[in-house]
Amino acid sequence: MGKTTLCPKCGSKKIKILVPQTGIWTCLKCGYQGGVLIEDSNMEKQIKDAKKMDKLSKKLMRGRL
Ligand SMILES: [Zn+2]
Repeated sequence: MGKTTLCPKCGSKKIKILVPQTGIWTCLKCGYQGGVLIEDSNMEKQIKDAKKMDKLSKKLMRGRL
């Protein structure tokens, strides 16, 4: 059984992997791009966590560039 992954921004299941090497996904519905996706259980909590992680990863990316 596969897990359902959702866009952390709009909750759409219409997502696809953009850069397999980095695990970056894109949402076909809202255009979200990022390395954070949520699974369909505990969605609200995971959306909060995903937003936190997204901020953190952006911070890290900025620090490296
Ligand atoms: Zn989306």
